[in-house]
Amino acid sequence: MKTIAVATIGCKTNQYETEAILNQFIESGYKLVDFSQPSDIYLINTCCVTNRAEYKSRYRIRKAFAKKSNTSKVVVTGCYVEQEPQFLKKLQNQIIQFRNDEKSQIFNCIEKNFPKEEISKSSNKFVELTTDKFYLHTRVPIKVQDGCDFFCSYCILPYVRGKPRSREPENVVKQIKKLVKNGVKEIVLTGINLGLYGKEFEDYNLINLLSEISSKTNIQRIRLSSIEPMFFDESLIEYISNNEKICHHFHIPLQSGSDNVLKKMNRCYTTDNFQTIINNIKNAIPDSAIGCDVIVGFPGETDEEFEKTYSFIENLDITYLHVFRYSPREIKSKILMQSIISQGEPREIKSEILMRSIISRGEPREIKSKILMQSIISQGEPREIKSQILMRGIISQGEPRPNTSSAKMKWKSDGIKNRQRMHRLIKLSHKKKMKYCNFLIDNQIPLKAVLETNKDGYWTSVSDHYVRVYLKDEKSKHGELKNLVAKKIHTNQNGIIVNEI
Ligand code: SF4
Repeated sequence: MKTIAVATIGCKTNQYETEAILNQFIESGYKLVDFSQPSDIYLINTCCVTNRAEYKSRYRIRKAFAKKSNTSKVVVTGCYVEQEPQFLKKLQNQIIQFRNDEKSQIFNCIEKNFPKEEISKSSNKFVELTTDKFYLHTRVPIKVQDGCDFFCSYCILPYVRGKPRSREPENVVKQIKKLVKNGVKEIVLTGINLGLYGKEFEDYNLINLLSEISSKTNIQRIRLSSIEPMFFDESLIEYISNNEKICHHFHIPLQSGSDNVLKKMNRCYTTDNFQTIINNIKNAIPDSAIGCDVIVGFPGETDEEFEKTYSFIENLDITYLHVFRYSPREIKSKILMQSIISQGEPREIKSEILMRSIISRGEPREIKSKILMQSIISQGEPREIKSQILMRGIISQGEPRPNTSSAKMKWKSDGIKNRQRMHRLIKLSHKKKMKYCNFLIDNQIPLKAVLETNKDGYWTSVSDHYVRVYLKDEKSKHGELKNLVAKKIHTNQNGIIVNEI
């Protein structure tokens, strides 16, 4: 029997795509083996969202090379491929690479030797990649959206994932119905920028999709993956508070508690806006667990700005933090140009989007936007746009560029401080998490969880309120949905011991 080993780095969207590709191989007779085992195929779905994600991607590729035989194939896909780093270039004759929008072709190309179909970069279409079986997840991610055009200044995703595209609602519903038949109890709706779902459709948005899923399928729990703050408007909050299937867990990226830093990050809200959103959610759904992403060490972040972030979060009624250290990104001209070209004819280049991306890289006042835009538009055919000029314009605005000595020195000297900032926020996150666990215990909030792993006599899982739960129970089975109530904090301080109700 032929074997396949998979490794996924990065977001839930990548996790979904790996599962869908994996299912195609398993349906055709392959056996899934651990990545540390010899295998006929090693599939690595990579990520480049931070330097650490890139490191992990390279690490997995190296691991595959350490284990592979002469006949094994190493298949590399995902955002790291889109970025075309030197590392992959060096290996190009030894690995098989697929861009993000070629993921749906991996099985046919590898197994049936089909030639790769050229997919137009300017395609506005969501590439359908589906599966009705999940091998690596109990709470299964369902990809409904791809791409982003927000161009936050620290984020490479708009360059590697392209424009926003939404999946047809009927395909989402069809897939969930099949998954329910196969025993799935909880789905996690996911996308690169989930709040943008339905942007290209007429009068159809995330609320409409949630309504269709709730009314047309028998799925028991629906969890939303990360959603940008501005999408939590009154209508979404009200809808969620009236839909019993939706988990009371929301992940809302904050990134900084300093308005100055938020502006430089090109985030389109202020701390006041964010505070209002959290208050609105908590007023409508008081038991909700709210998690936030925060970035420390954004270029130029001062002590004062960090202290503002710390005290803003300290006073915010949230449950936990995911803390990241800023990664200096080298946005390669090729990627940037692809992103521009994919907008269509030169005149259609969305100057606003492009300018937002450029401006966000430094002090807006210093950018001669008119000159820059003229220089882009006057080039005529898109391919003739002189990427070098454009890149010079962008880089000169202050994005720390790796491989220059000043950037390295700055980064080094900030490193210790950034680590300290990170640790302070991680400690704060733990304090908030424990406070929330005690709230669940004191108020006997009913919890639901799909059983995932059994260890030392306890079933463990992540509950609908995003707290790890431990249930002492020998009779239950993997994948069962349980109604639970919190008893006490686990001695490992990592979750709560629960009873079944
Ligand atoms: S909203 Fe900002 S951070 Fe999120 S994917 Fe888009 S550009 Fe990146």
